[in-house]
Amino acid sequence: MKRMKHWIAALTVLCLLAVPLTALTETLKRNSSGKAVAEIQQWLIDLGYLNDAADGKFGRKTEAAVKAFQKTIGVKQNGRLTDSQREQLMFLYYDVTGAMEGDGLDPEELKEMYPDGCSRTGDDAGQVDYCWRHQEAGHLMALMLKPGLPDKAAAQVAARAVDLWLKNIYALYDEWGETSDVAFDQLDLFEEAWAEVETDLNSAYGPGSAAALKEMASWLEGCCTDRCFDLHTAEPNR
Ligand SMILES: [Zn+2]
Repeated sequence: MKRMKHWIAALTVLCLLAVPLTALTETLKRNSSGKAVAEIQQWLIDLGYLNDAADGKFGRKTEAAVKAFQKTIGVKQNGRLTDSQREQLMFLYYDVTGAMEGDGLDPEELKEMYPDGCSRTGDDAGQVDYCWRHQEAGHLMALMLKPGLPDKAAAQVAARAVDLWLKNIYALYDEWGETSDVAFDQLDLFEEAWAEVETDLNSAYGPGSAAALKEMASWLEGCCTDRCFDLHTAEPNR
């Protein structure tokens, strides 16, 4: 868990550096108006807290949306958005939408920060201590499971986690294929299983739904960490 926090802290610092903060705002509340209100309304809309237009007028709907957001971050739900809460909303928006992508840490830096090879040495049985390969997707998983996060936001995060897990899984099979022919058969089996899981979950929960994407991400997470762990303990077969 310490590593995850480290990663989140790194992301937060990146956000602080890269996002030009608009001038400090006073607490935004009912009857506030102007550009700062329109800005938070757009974030609330994109995250799924608000179903309205970003008209710059802080009314009843915006107040309800702010309360829902306050529930997510575990503060008093009074509908008044302090400046530090506004900042948290902005970070959540960038985290969920991936608007900061491309400014993230590159794999070489990650490899230095996190040791290579998956280990499962945590205190809890079955705990996965991610290696560098899974840091980013792991961060998205934690975000995806945040209590009170609207489905719209959860679906965006889960979809990005699915993409990242898949990318990592294929990279792992490539790596394994360099030392073992078994890798190619295993890759076929994986692709078959994944196609089935994708179809089943889409039909059970609705195509592209938050629930379907969350289940897919969790399934792929298991495959990816298993594959990574196996790869680092496997005997070459060639
Ligand atoms: Zn790993």
